Amino acid sequence: MTEQPLIPADKKRAAHEMRGIVCPSCGCKHFSVIYARPTREGHIRRRRECRNCGRRITTYEHSIG
Ligand SMILES: [Zn+2]
Repeated sequence: MTEQPLIPADKKRAAHEMRGIVCPSCGCKHFSVIYARPTREGHIRRRRECRNCGRRITTYEHSIG
């Protein structure tokens, strides 16, 4: 059984930004955000483009606050 170690705030933020998103085409994890806008449900919709192959994906995030 492994316990989660305390993570410094800056690493937490990095992990939050990563979100574990992987390009379905090439497996690249680097995306540039084309645009982001809130939805009626209070989520944030982000349109992202893979920096490696140009594949575009859409992600939805819960806005906090
Ligand atoms: Zn890609």
